[in-house]
Amino acid sequence: MTYECAGPQKTKQRWCILNKIKNNSEFDEASEDQAPATELETIRQEAELGTLHIIQETIQPLYGLLETAITDSATDIHFDPVGDHFFIRFRINGIIRNRGMIPQDEAKQMLLQLRAYAGMGISKTFTALESQCKWLGEEVVKDIRVTIVPIGGTVSAHLRILTPPEFIKNIENLGLEKKDASAIRRHLSSAQGLVVVGGPTGAGKTTTIYSLANMFDLESIIGVSIEDPIEFDIPYMRQLEVDTRHDLLMPEGLRALLRMDPDLLMVTEIRDEQSAITVARAATAASLILSTIHSGDAAGAVEAFHFFNVPCHILGSCLRVIIAQNLVRALCPECKISRNPTKEDRELFERWDVTVPDEIFDPRTGGCGNCDHYGFYGRTGIFEVVEVDEEVRKAIISGTSPMDLRKKFRNKGFSSIFQNGLYKVAAGDTSMKELLDLYWPDFGGSGID
Ligand SMILES: [Zn+2]
Repeated sequence: MTYECAGPQKTKQRWCILNKIKNNSEFDEASEDQAPATELETIRQEAELGTLHIIQETIQPLYGLLETAITDSATDIHFDPVGDHFFIRFRINGIIRNRGMIPQDEAKQMLLQLRAYAGMGISKTFTALESQCKWLGEEVVKDIRVTIVPIGGTVSAHLRILTPPEFIKNIENLGLEKKDASAIRRHLSSAQGLVVVGGPTGAGKTTTIYSLANMFDLESIIGVSIEDPIEFDIPYMRQLEVDTRHDLLMPEGLRALLRMDPDLLMVTEIRDEQSAITVARAATAASLILSTIHSGDAAGAVEAFHFFNVPCHILGSCLRVIIAQNLVRALCPECKISRNPTKEDRELFERWDVTVPDEIFDPRTGGCGNCDHYGFYGRTGIFEVVEVDEEVRKAIISGTSPMDLRKKFRNKGFSSIFQNGLYKVAAGDTSMKELLDLYWPDFGGSGID
């Protein structure tokens, strides 16, 4: 078979090879043996280069499943083996929704297609695999991040449908209070220093950091990034992806990028001591660095850098602003139900120095057509934004404990994530139960001293 033609037809011809394999498509070594090795390798290389995409003409039923998920605004698709079937679930607006069972053969066919298109190869999986591919719809293109994990002799898979955050030009749209957004803008105009976004997994850190990068005029500055993985293309940003298969690790990548004379460096995400120390030193010396780190709140982000052995005096010198965040489900504006705050609600608002609202809102049981009968529609960020002024800097340099840092942040008037959540309850954006399901009230210090 030759591959001289271009476009979908070319992809279609290549898929013929995979269809041959599919017909013998158990996840075993034999499958790969039956494919011409060079042709499979070409397909893999194209997938890695991002030139082999899932398109309607070639890939059913995978294309159809993805189309349904994208039409439903799902962010995630889960494939889980149950008996001789696979259980398919979507995450939509933060909620897992059951989409039914499909026969094992059909699921395996989809997963095999997915693996081929994500450049993962099709031989039996003994380890977790992660990769990315593109879905080409008639009107939209989506990047899909694929994770496949071997479970009990078969596999379980997760697909994250990546939605570019380019539309977020106004960072208030992330859910930031106006004063917090202003503080962030002020610090982004610094020539050097570290702006760090902290939060647990799935807290929206990536969306925030991409939105921050989008605020720069990248045509007129040198912007570089090292990411694990690259989730979206940012025009005019030189984006480098961590690639463990080829020994491109974050510390080495960071050092190379810093030699490229960057004005702006974006790092997602700091996970090791060498990277943490390199980032902190570089932010002290010359560059403005945007980075994410796994933490519970702003004081936890400082603690995370300490955990990676970044010296207190360097961390204190380089930090400009700490943004900690999480996500809560937003109430459906069409069907949320007003009620008076209870005695307990009032006590919480008062204890956290938030004006008690006349009414707060709950989701309607059974929702409405607008929210697909869930009562919630989308998610919004809740934030803690700490500006590192001289007082905070001194506290960090002197090695103040996270508990005392939290107290200091509250006394200086920086809202905790929980307090910020209460603002959103008071504004009717989310429900008190949604916030309390995520945080216990004492999280981030016990109110204002
Ligand atoms: Zn509704």
